[in-house]
Amino acid sequence: MKSKKFLQIIRFITQACFLTGLFFPVIIHADVAAKYMFWSVLLCGVFFCGWVCPFGAIQDWLAWIARKLKCPHFRVPHKVQKYLQFTRYILYALSTFGITFVFLNARYNFNHDMVNGMLSVSGGIILAVFLISALFIDRPFCNYFCLKGAVDGMMSIVRPFSIKRNNQKCIHCHLCDRNCPMNILVENTNFVRHPNCINCMKCITVCPKNCLTFKLMNLPEKKK
Ligand code: SF4
Ligand code: SF4
Ligand code: SF4
Repeated sequence: MKSKKFLQIIRFITQACFLTGLFFPVIIHADVAAKYMFWSVLLCGVFFCGWVCPFGAIQDWLAWIARKLKCPHFRVPHKVQKYLQFTRYILYALSTFGITFVFLNARYNFNHDMVNGMLSVSGGIILAVFLISALFIDRPFCNYFCLKGAVDGMMSIVRPFSIKRNNQKCIHCHLCDRNCPMNILVENTNFVRHPNCINCMKCITVCPKNCLTFKLMNLPEKKK
């Protein structure tokens, strides 16, 4: 069985490079980056959230630290998640009618001007709440509040490239479901096209049978 841990190591390095500004030249050509991002979301889903976004990276790392420290970890039950997963879309719809939310501005400040974001009282308190909750729940902001994530997620549902599950090899252990930071039931589907998928590849990494692969939807499985 081939280990896919290297995927998470590469992802960690990529997130760290974006967070520390090592990939700054990519960001200053924002217009070119935005064009590529638009097409990449349509074709392959939301790599930005899983690999680039600093706030997503921080939430991932806090969850990782909390697990290492054996802090209690909560997963929103799927019965509740199936309704809660729409919050960011509802917030997006409300925001298009001019209803703004202070916590969304706080995240915006954090990504774009960390010092001011942290110094403003509302920004500081709300960020602290999100960061502390990220110790106990996977990516709370991404899952339920982020408007950018909502827009990209909606665009990504037509993607022809995504994670494909080989049902013949699958032993239905549900490790993919339990490790998905966006609480998606991977085992329930043959091709992940969920709008909340952030292409973190964690499901691929943990699958003990290597039956998840990132590929074109109709590409047949290789015979061995
Ligand atoms: S959902 Fe929002 S906060 Fe989360 S990684 Fe994506 S853009 Fe960043
Ligand atoms: S981790 Fe792999 S084997 Fe287990 S349920 Fe998911 S796809 Fe199937
Ligand atoms: S389905 Fe897989 S790639 Fe998508 S968010 Fe969940 S673990 Fe990450």
